[in-house]
Amino acid sequence: MNGKVVMDCIDAAYASIKQHADEIMVLDQTIGDGDHVFNLIRGLEALRGIRGDLESLDFASALKLAASKVLSTVGGSSGPLFSSLLLGMSRASDHLNGDPRGYAQMYAAGVKAVQDRGKTGKGSKTMMDVLIPVAERLIELADGEPPVALILAELPREAARGVLATRDMLATKGRASFLGERSLGHIDPGARSSEIMITAVCERIGKFLSVRSNAP
Ligand code: ADP
Ligand code: MG
Repeated sequence: MNGKVVMDCIDAAYASIKQHADEIMVLDQTIGDGDHVFNLIRGLEALRGIRGDLESLDFASALKLAASKVLSTVGGSSGPLFSSLLLGMSRASDHLNGDPRGYAQMYAAGVKAVQDRGKTGKGSKTMMDVLIPVAERLIELADGEPPVALILAELPREAARGVLATRDMLATKGRASFLGERSLGHIDPGARSSEIMITAVCERIGKFLSVRSNAP
């Protein structure tokens, strides 16, 4: 893993967010202020604008640079939160050696950093309802040492379950909490965008690993 892989994952996340842009916009118009998808696109485009820098770095440094770029370009609640995810992962990526457990711990450390920043866990109808269950499932799966392809196929399913769960939750954090009971029955935009990006990244890493294993 290096800066090139980080950039590939950013490209994959960007393509998928663009593809689902209208849907994410409607979700945030319904229980927020409608800007979530624009915040995401602004951040992802800023990262694509420093492609050369990111690709030339090692994995940890690329994540760290991406975190600071997201923090300086993305407003709203989600900018600092996604920046914390990237920085938390960067700080926990020193000892990666190809063992899925190392990647699982790295992702979980990123999620913990988001949790510390946003001061919320599961059940508040936010992106945490996707990020945390995915981290828990990843740790559990990696401990069982299954094939990596199986882990990459399962995480998007866990993320989708997290998204659906937000529909019946009362929002107690972020803008949606201003709606009180009227937030019930609607999916959280940050949960959905997190699912979309997690799915895109899992697919991209899956392709990367299968190309490597088929190499002569
Ligand atoms: P804003 O709410 O400031 O307009 P965005 O629209 O970019 O920012 O992001 C909204 C998303 O941010 C929500 O859908 C929710 O998932 C997430 N969010 C808001 N507050 C928090 C928080 N404290 N912790 C985790 N996620 C949060
Ligand atoms: Mg918003």
